[in-house]
Amino acid sequence: MNVILSKNRYSLLPIFSGALAAIMLLFVLLSWLTYSSLLEFRDLFKDVAQDDLPDIVLSSQLYAQSTRLLESTEQLANASSEAAKRLAEEKVSLYLAQLRFRSDQRFSNEFLRTQLDVIQTEINEFTLLIRQKLRLNQQLRDTENAIYALHNASFNSDLEGENGGNTKNTYQWSLQLAKTVAKLSQTLNMHRLQEVRGMFRQLNDDFEVLRRLAEQADNAPQRLKTTSAMQKLILAEDGFLALKIEHMRIEGRVNGRENFVHNLIQDYAQLLEYGAKQTEKKTSAQLQRTVARTQTETNKIGVILSGTILLLLLIILFMQRHVILRLQTLNNLVKNRISGKESHAVLEGNDEITDLATNFSVFAQTIEDQRLKLEHMTLTDSLTQIANRRALDIRLHHDIELSVRKKSHVAVLLMDIDCFKLYNDNYGHAFGDECLKRIAKLLKGTLKRASDFVARYGGEEFVCVLPDTSKEGAEEMAELILKAIRSAKLEHRFSKVTNIVTLSIGIAVSGPEHILLPEKLLSRADKALYRAKNMGKNRYYSKTDDQEQDTASP
Ligand code: GH3
Ligand code: MG
Ligand code: MG
Repeated sequence: MNVILSKNRYSLLPIFSGALAAIMLLFVLLSWLTYSSLLEFRDLFKDVAQDDLPDIVLSSQLYAQSTRLLESTEQLANASSEAAKRLAEEKVSLYLAQLRFRSDQRFSNEFLRTQLDVIQTEINEFTLLIRQKLRLNQQLRDTENAIYALHNASFNSDLEGENGGNTKNTYQWSLQLAKTVAKLSQTLNMHRLQEVRGMFRQLNDDFEVLRRLAEQADNAPQRLKTTSAMQKLILAEDGFLALKIEHMRIEGRVNGRENFVHNLIQDYAQLLEYGAKQTEKKTSAQLQRTVARTQTETNKIGVILSGTILLLLLIILFMQRHVILRLQTLNNLVKNRISGKESHAVLEGNDEITDLATNFSVFAQTIEDQRLKLEHMTLTDSLTQIANRRALDIRLHHDIELSVRKKSHVAVLLMDIDCFKLYNDNYGHAFGDECLKRIAKLLKGTLKRASDFVARYGGEEFVCVLPDTSKEGAEEMAELILKAIRSAKLEHRFSKVTNIVTLSIGIAVSGPEHILLPEKLLSRADKALYRAKNMGKNRYYSKTDDQEQDTASP
């Protein structure tokens, strides 16, 4: 596994923990900023919806109401009858009550309330003046009617001739009286006190003339009486002119009071308008402030968000380069290691991933060692430490396959120690084992070529596999083996052959002329071994199928 450790050791854990903590912190900051902006907006909208807007709406309603109050006070001022006055009075008090109710509902403005109180007082006094004016109006009309009645009575009695003849003097008196009475309607249209006073003087003179004419006219006492009554009705302290003057005075006061009340109501309306404008100004200023603040907060959020995204990108890039790609490399290295392929990938760095690679390498090496050990164990005979039956099977298959391809021979030598039961029985099993080990070592030592192979076949039997070896070669080899065993001179006093350990060999050969499968080859070798045993042991025996020619060692 190709791992290159850099000099500086660093750890991925604090890097990732730090980056995650920074992102968390940025997100908390973002959330906090967004939340606080929203809160500010909520408060603003709450203020506008709950206080400012209703204030503005109510102010405009009150403004409209005060305009109506203004109109109804005008109606009150112009009321010419008791009924019109009562109607106007009712309207005024209704609008006033509504104004007071609505303004009390929302505003705790003491000044507005005082202003309303003043308006109320002034309207009360104004109403009293109107009442006086109406009463005077009535008195004036009554007096006027009495004057006309008197004049009519005098005129009618003249017509019917009750007051004597229709002389020139009488006619003049009547004319003068009619002129005097006619001046009343002129007086009624007067609007200046001076004019009325002038009229008073004129009428005074007129009555002087009337009195003189009355004295000269027919039925002078009656005419004088009428003249005096008329003079009293017009010029007395409670007469027509005095009433007219009083009426003019009251009217002046009514006008003055009306103007005053008008001004008060207008002031009140302007106050309301001013209040509404102030609220509007306050709200728009507050809105502007909040919008500016939100703008700043939004900019901040934008900057932090960009920073967070940048940081995330950096982390992703870092992860890509330092983690994902390296993990891929590690994965390739591991895969190659498992499949036993040569790998050119290089894992650099000095962190947890390189630790993992190094540890894996150690782990894989341990597994490999153990595997080799296990393989060795499964293919090795534990007693003699040469190949076992399993290894023989594999090798024999392989060599026969190869010989088929190469069209060459494979020879098999099946060897069995002679009278080994007797050896065991007499020297003991432990010595028997020792003998088996010695024989195995001798056999191994006899093999010449690297491709020659020896295995323990089982018990006291061994097999040699000799590739590229013909029958002759195999016999030569068998001879060598027999010699080697004999030369070792391993004592076997109980052998029925001689006094040393000997063995018998059965030879079988597979060749291009007659290919034999492993089982068949071994079975042939076994048969040959049987023949060697029967022929007296301590020898080899081989046979070729085609020639049916037996060969045995002497
Ligand atoms: P022959 O000459 O006909 O081959 O006679 P033999 O006595 O060698 O043959 P036999 O098959 O009768 O006996 C084989 C003996 O080999 C039996 C057993 O005691 C001995 N033997 C088999 N395996 C082992 C082993 O692992 N260790 C020891 N010490 N003895 C073994
Ligand atoms: Mg045997
Ligand atoms: Mg034997």
